[in-house]
Amino acid sequence: MRYESTRGGAPVLQFSDVLLEGLASDGGLYVPKQWPLITKTELRSLANIPYAEVAQRVLAPLVDPSISFETLGELTHRAYANFRHEEVAPVVELGESFLVELHWGPTFSFKDIALQLLGQLFEHELERRDKKITIVGATSGDTGSAAIEACKDRAGIELVMLHPRGRVSEIQRLQMTTVESSNIHNVAIDGTFDDCQDLVKAMFAQEKFRSEMSLAAVNSINWARVAAQSVYYVTTALKLGAPDKKVSFCVPTGNFGNVMAGYMASQMGVPIERLIVASNHNDILSRAYQTGTMSMEPVRPSLSPAMDIQVSSNFERLLFDLSERNGPELAEQIKEFRRSGSWVLNPEILKILRTKFIADRASDEQVLSTIRQVYQKTGVLVDPHTAVGISVAERQPPSSAAMAIMSTAHPAKFPDAVTEATGSVFDLPPELSSLSSLSETCDFLPNNLNLVMDHVREVTK
Ligand SMILES: *Cc1c(COP(=O)(O)O)cnc(C)c1O
Repeated sequence: MRYESTRGGAPVLQFSDVLLEGLASDGGLYVPKQWPLITKTELRSLANIPYAEVAQRVLAPLVDPSISFETLGELTHRAYANFRHEEVAPVVELGESFLVELHWGPTFSFKDIALQLLGQLFEHELERRDKKITIVGATSGDTGSAAIEACKDRAGIELVMLHPRGRVSEIQRLQMTTVESSNIHNVAIDGTFDDCQDLVKAMFAQEKFRSEMSLAAVNSINWARVAAQSVYYVTTALKLGAPDKKVSFCVPTGNFGNVMAGYMASQMGVPIERLIVASNHNDILSRAYQTGTMSMEPVRPSLSPAMDIQVSSNFERLLFDLSERNGPELAEQIKEFRRSGSWVLNPEILKILRTKFIADRASDEQVLSTIRQVYQKTGVLVDPHTAVGISVAERQPPSSAAMAIMSTAHPAKFPDAVTEATGSVFDLPPELSSLSSLSETCDFLPNNLNLVMDHVREVTK
C-alpha cells in the first residue's frame, strides 16, 4: 500500500513512513492511494473472532509492506490486552438503537482504541530503525491522557503534551499529570486549546526544529489513528447483521477522525447506509452540509469539550477523496478558506456528501435533556459527547437499517454534566477516584513559541 498527500505535493510513502511523518511535508494529510476491499465472504469470516484478530486482518493490507501479518497480530493483541471489556467495543441496545461502547480503554474515552495501537506501532518501528522521536501534542482533554497512557515508558519516545492551563476538567488533568514516567512531560500553557494547537503547528512548521527533534504527531492528522478506528465499524456492523443487513452510524464529531474511519470502512465494503455527523453548537460541518458553504465562527465552550472545534482537520481527507483526488486544487481552496474564512463547496461534491452523510447538531440543553431521558427510561448514564450523538440520532426518520451510536466517553469522565442532568451523584470507578491522592507533575509556560521550543529541547535531552 502506498500513501499520497491530500495536497498533492509530498512524496508518496509507505505505512511506516506515514506513521512517523504525521503531517505531510506539503501541509496535507496522508491517505492510502486506494481503499483495500473486504469481500462479503471475508466479512463473514470476521464475525465472532477476537477484536485484536479482526484488527490484524482489517489493517494488514494498509500496513503492507511495512509490517508483516504476524508482527501486526502481536501488536494488535498487545494493544487491546488491557481493555476493561473483553470485546473491546461492545454493542448494547438502547431502545430502538444501539450504543457502541468505545470507552473501555485505560483512560475511559474512545481515543484509547487508536492510541493504544499507535503506541505499539511507534515502539516497533523505532526499535527496528534504532531511532528516537519527540511527540508534541495539544489536548483539550482526552487525547492527552490517552497518548500519555499509550506512550509511557516506551523506548525511543519522548512525549511533550500541552494543555490549556485551567481549561481541562480536573479528572482529565489528573489523568495526565499523575503519570510518573521519565519520558512524559506535561506542560500547562497560559492560553486556550487553540493556542496550544497553534504552538504545536508552529513547531512542525519550523523545518530545522522538526528534523532536529524528529517530531511526530499523535493527533488524528496521524493516519494510523484513523486506520485503527475503522476496525470497530467492522465489528459493530457484523454484530448488527452485516453483510446481509446495512447499518447507519451516528458519530459525535470534533476533528472528523472517527467519522472518517467510518467512511473508510464504507469504502472498504462494510455495508453502511448512512454516516451521521453529530456536532454540538460548534456546528461548522452541519451548517456546511445544509447551506453548501463552510464558514468559520469563533469556538464557544460546550458541555462536550472534545468537540469544541472550529475546523475539522480530517474533513480534508474526505474532500480529497470526493474530489477525484485533485490535491493541488484542494490545496488552493484550503489556502483561500484560511484567508477568507469561507468556502463554497463544489455542488458535485456536496451532492455525494448528502447521499452518504447526514449532518446535524445538538445544543447543550438538548444534551442535558437527552442524558436525563436516557437515564429515566433505561437507567443508563451517558456522557455529554455520547448524548450529542443520541440526540441527533433520535431525530432521524425511521429506516430499515439499524442505528449504531458511537459512545465516545465513559460518563464518569464528565461527572458534572451527568449529575446536572440526572440529579444523581454516582461513584467514580476506582481507577479515576484514586487519582486525586497521587502527586502531580507539570510545568507551566506562557503562550510563547520560543520558550516552549526551548522547553521541549531541555526536557527531552
Ligand atoms: C475526541 C473526542 C470526540 C471527537 O472525535 P473526532 O475523531 O475528533 O471527531 C468525541 N467524543 C470524545 C469523548 C472525544 O474524546
